[in-house]
Amino acid sequence: MTHATGTLYIISAPSGAGKTSLVKALIEQTPNLHVSVSHTTRPMRPGEADGVNYHFTDRDNFLKLVEAGDFLEHAEVFGNLYGTSQTAVEQALARGHDIILEIDWQGAEQVRRKLPQAHSIFILPPSLEALRYRLDSRGQDDNDVIDRRMAEAVAEMSHYVEFDSLVINDTFEHALDDLKAIVRSYRLKTTAQSARHASLLQALLSD
Ligand code: GDP
Ligand code: ADP
Ligand code: 5GP
Repeated sequence: MTHATGTLYIISAPSGAGKTSLVKALIEQTPNLHVSVSHTTRPMRPGEADGVNYHFTDRDNFLKLVEAGDFLEHAEVFGNLYGTSQTAVEQALARGHDIILEIDWQGAEQVRRKLPQAHSIFILPPSLEALRYRLDSRGQDDNDVIDRRMAEAVAEMSHYVEFDSLVINDTFEHALDDLKAIVRSYRLKTTAQSARHASLLQALLSD
């Protein structure tokens, strides 16, 4: 991003690695960091709300939005369609907000091509057993859905090499600290700092 706009983060992980809980905690503890609400055709889980976790929609409407060019990226994941609204992301960045996209590796590839300044982060579980345990204990998906997500996990994880940063979610607080460190180091970049401290720089450098 140029100094006038926010930073775009992409976070990907196999289902159950903990990205949603980590991102929720990260944005609660970080000012000016927001998560983009995706569109999806997957059924709503208990506890989810339309417009909060996702914009829930049917396949026909989703495909109309694709036709209209409304998505920055979109992909089919586990038989459901997911997509990120281009306008919503562009407007938030233009207002100077930092934005997180919680999207799969296919979407990450598309965003990287369009916005190479984006910083991408991949989250890995500490083991396959832990991943299965987390999917089971979340208790929100049917067994066949969990089996399908586990079956695709290894192929998804092989994409970690395409990401700028890699975080292992073993201890939750440790992984959260890693994410906070990544955001903090981005905010200390000279381009961001010189916009934030323009008047200080002017005062220091004028005689
Ligand atoms: P969960 O990640 O296990 O909680 O399950 P979800 O059904 O919420 O998401 C399934 C997959 O779709 C995950 O890999 C998400 O990162 C991905 N996903 C969610 N939103 C988007 C999106 O807008 N675009 C793309 N490309 N992938 C998405
Ligand atoms: P994702 O969004 O990647 O599918 P979630 O954030 O929904 O993953 O996490 C999956 C489950 O694992 C949730 O029940 C969550 O509470 C749990 N979880 C997340 N991080 C950890 C961790 N470090 N240790 C143990 N359980 C975790
Ligand atoms: P929240 O951000 O809502 O407090 O946490 C989301 C979920 O992540 C919690 O429901 C909890 O199951 C899981 N979680 C958070 N921190 C830890 C941790 O350190 N260890 C374990 N085992 N699970 C955690």
